Amino acid sequence: MQLIMEILHVSAECYPVAKAGGLGDVVGALPKYQNQLGHIAKVVMPMYRTKFLYDNQWEVVHKGGNNLGSWWFEYTVIKEKTNKLGFDLYLIDINGLLDREKIYSYQDDTERFTAFQISVVDWLASWKHHPDIVHVHDHHTALIPFMLKHCYAYQQLASIRSVLTIHNAQYQGWMDWDKSNYIPHWDGWQWGMLDWNNNINPLACGIRCADKVTTVSWSYLEELRYMSNGLESLFEYERGKCVGILNGIDTKVWDPEIDSYIGDHFTTENIDEGKKANKKILCDQFNLDIDKPLIIFIGRLVGEKAADLLPQAIGDSIYHIDPKMNFLVLGSGDPHVEWQLETMKYPLTGYYNSQIGYNEKLSHIMYAGADFLLMPSRVEPCGLNQMYAMRYGTIPIVRRTGGLKDTVIDYGAPNGYGVCFDIASVGDITNAIYRAMLLSEQPDRINAIRKQLMNLDFSWEGSAEQYIGVYESAK
Ligand code: ADP
Repeated sequence: MQLIMEILHVSAECYPVAKAGGLGDVVGALPKYQNQLGHIAKVVMPMYRTKFLYDNQWEVVHKGGNNLGSWWFEYTVIKEKTNKLGFDLYLIDINGLLDREKIYSYQDDTERFTAFQISVVDWLASWKHHPDIVHVHDHHTALIPFMLKHCYAYQQLASIRSVLTIHNAQYQGWMDWDKSNYIPHWDGWQWGMLDWNNNINPLACGIRCADKVTTVSWSYLEELRYMSNGLESLFEYERGKCVGILNGIDTKVWDPEIDSYIGDHFTTENIDEGKKANKKILCDQFNLDIDKPLIIFIGRLVGEKAADLLPQAIGDSIYHIDPKMNFLVLGSGDPHVEWQLETMKYPLTGYYNSQIGYNEKLSHIMYAGADFLLMPSRVEPCGLNQMYAMRYGTIPIVRRTGGLKDTVIDYGAPNGYGVCFDIASVGDITNAIYRAMLLSEQPDRINAIRKQLMNLDFSWEGSAEQYIGVYESAK
């Protein structure tokens, strides 16, 4: 008989409350599926000033205070009243520190997320019982396993098992040692748990102190041993406690049959008409040609996503492969790439367009209306975009890395359904686009692939079970 587990997820993001990327999607979905398996999963996150906060009803469940170094702060824990998301959702309010419009990118992010973590642990200490698992996500919450084990004030929490999921190991939350007094009075013999190359490295600390570590795909876990922004030897050393579990997608949110962001719904039965209707909306809005294959890019415009290669790869494809295709880019990030993508619009009017910024609704219409999705990522821990695209019958063009390697099979291989390439270079991207164009000249094959894509199973059920297995092995 399976034991019922109580799990507290701690995260900086959770969709639809606040999302900057895949982390938000995962934390907004995984707990719901864990509850459906009969467990009790809850989420605690910072209280930002988001629409979700103002649109919903909250009750205060706890108030407390603590020190961040010499600064005394007070925090309030509020709970969403109606279980709207399928799990108990708690927000931590720290006046002046967390209640801002953006999630990240403030100069005092170290102070913000350290105070948040202290508040979570302090609140946990007031519970009359302990959860079985505290599941922390990425570096913003990765000091919690250390605090549970090594802070004198929280010794009663030391038996709680902790699991760290790494959604992105590039960002590690480095802090100077002069901020070590931010962490509540801790056992000085354990300084080595905090240190990495003469800095406090919260992600490295989480990897050492958590009972289990997971990453969001098997291939990413392998890659981290060779390329993890300085933590390679740690991943090699700790490989015994690391597990790769592929993210799922929330098939209730991402469903072309009922998606509330798209007007023209479709299933495998009317896929062609459905996609065309959505494509028409995009082509009308962005001045593109409905008769040409539409290749889209959606995502953060950063080096990890190889966004810097997009302008030339798009330009070269349009000039060298005849102007056979259209491109549409949605994203924000590196200001130089944003500028390039904007200025390209005019010489390439009718072939290419872009929208700089974050737009959830447009992203859904793009997944629904596009023919191909391009993801040339240099690093891709799991990647959700390709899974969303496939769910909407859009063929992925991906670099074989991390989760892209684990989820897309090239159409040249048996049962293949995507276009894969190996090197993040303009030449390889352009060549992959050329292969996509060859594929698009075979309408019967395209139709068969679209059906196959929409029938692939990327749902959360299997992965949610695997996490429970990890929790059990942590006990
Ligand atoms: P990462 O977490 O590295 O950014 P993922 O592929 O795991 O990448 O998840 C990206 C998520 O963010 C997807 O849900 C994608 O649709 C969404 N997204 C990224 N950029 C934008 C944008 N500019 N507008 C709307 N959605 C976006």
